[in-house]
Amino acid sequence: MNIEPVVPISAIEHYAYCPRQCALIHCDGIWSDNEHTVKGTRAHRRVDSGTHRRERGRMVLRSIPLWSEDLGLSGRADAIEVDDDGMWPVEYKSGVRHGNSADLQLCAQALCLEEMLGIKIPNGFVWYGGPKRRMHVEFTEDLRSEVFGIIEMIRKQFLTGKLPEAVDDERCGPCQLLHYCLPHLSRSPRKVYRYLDEVVFG
Ligand code: SF4
Repeated sequence: MNIEPVVPISAIEHYAYCPRQCALIHCDGIWSDNEHTVKGTRAHRRVDSGTHRRERGRMVLRSIPLWSEDLGLSGRADAIEVDDDGMWPVEYKSGVRHGNSADLQLCAQALCLEEMLGIKIPNGFVWYGGPKRRMHVEFTEDLRSEVFGIIEMIRKQFLTGKLPEAVDDERCGPCQLLHYCLPHLSRSPRKVYRYLDEVVFG
């Protein structure tokens, strides 16, 4: 890779959802499953199988490795669809849309494909299992710039190893790291001392 440390494509979605979640997973190596991640793993079984097939007049290639030397990125696309008009990445999510975090991850996959194959990829799709809807994502210049910015912030996070403050908002309920992160404590040192008094020393 031209740039180190290499950023996993999956970290882009984690960082966009919550920078602290990204640091806990990718710097501290913490992972925990909850009902959402278990559903996601089940939903990914076919995608992760690596079997390719023809569907509705186009080739669907599954679990394809991706990288970008220029951006220092590596990862995997759930699926890449190919027809006479071109190719595009498809990302599968078992739940519902959380802001544009999946769009950013998908755009990073397209940036890798563009560099690997020397082509332009104008759009892709994210399939959400919650509403059972496939949503079109256009890779605009704004979205691409946002991806570049997040890659830089993740790389900085990897280099400093600094754990960001907890967001402690509606993102925390469905977060699989809730019980490791303890967001309600991490925002206030006074609360930490109270927790230690009550739970550890009490
Ligand atoms: S519990 Fe909240 S603050 Fe902690 S990692 Fe998850 S989303 Fe981020």
